[in-house]
Amino acid sequence: MKVIILFGPPGSGKGTQGKIVAEKLSIPHIATGDIMREAITKGTELGKKVKEFLDKGELVPDDIVIEIIRERLSRNDTKAGFILDGFPRTYNQAQALDNLFEKLGIKDYIVVHIDVSDEEIIKRISGRRTCGRCGRVYNIYFEKPKSCECGGELYMREDDSPEKVKRRLEVYKESTYPVLEYYKAKNKIKSINGEAEISEVTKKILDLILR
Ligand code: AMP
Repeated sequence: MKVIILFGPPGSGKGTQGKIVAEKLSIPHIATGDIMREAITKGTELGKKVKEFLDKGELVPDDIVIEIIRERLSRNDTKAGFILDGFPRTYNQAQALDNLFEKLGIKDYIVVHIDVSDEEIIKRISGRRTCGRCGRVYNIYFEKPKSCECGGELYMREDDSPEKVKRRLEVYKESTYPVLEYYKAKNKIKSINGEAEISEVTKKILDLILR
């Protein structure tokens, strides 16, 4: 069973790498941001509750996100492993995840920290465009997509505007960075440099996981 937590600031490539690695290992890629954006698009109760937080670049309250993960990990497709992307983002969430892992009998997991500088994050996020239909992410600096391969239209995420990105980086430093210390103390962290070609970063992640 392969359990991987992808950890890193917004724009570090967690989503891109999470999708690629999940496909290679045939395990689900579970991204709390994706789950909530989908709920917002569909207009569900969850979507209505969380929209305001996502739009502002603030964290959604712990109890809501922990419940999303608890429900998601209870499904059968997680039995061979899974990749978490964007969770845990607070100390409380990390503790809740430990409790969940204990209940599920999961002892072995790895936290891959994708390290990317603030300057690179700001550059990447300003060029990021997301497909409204399938969620695939493009970057206008590297590709010149007019629309998504699936035919869906590309848009800029509400929280990818420069002011929101600034706030998300602050939130990352204040609330999420401490999670790194939590896992360091447990000797679970493997850090990699995320400022490289997508395929190179994928290779580094696979090297760590399949070691
Ligand atoms: P992401 O797609 O991972 O960049 O997440 C987008 C937004 O979703 C964040 O800025 C938060 O508003 C919310 N979010 C995603 N994951 C979490 C989490 N684990 N805890 C709290 N808020 C979250």
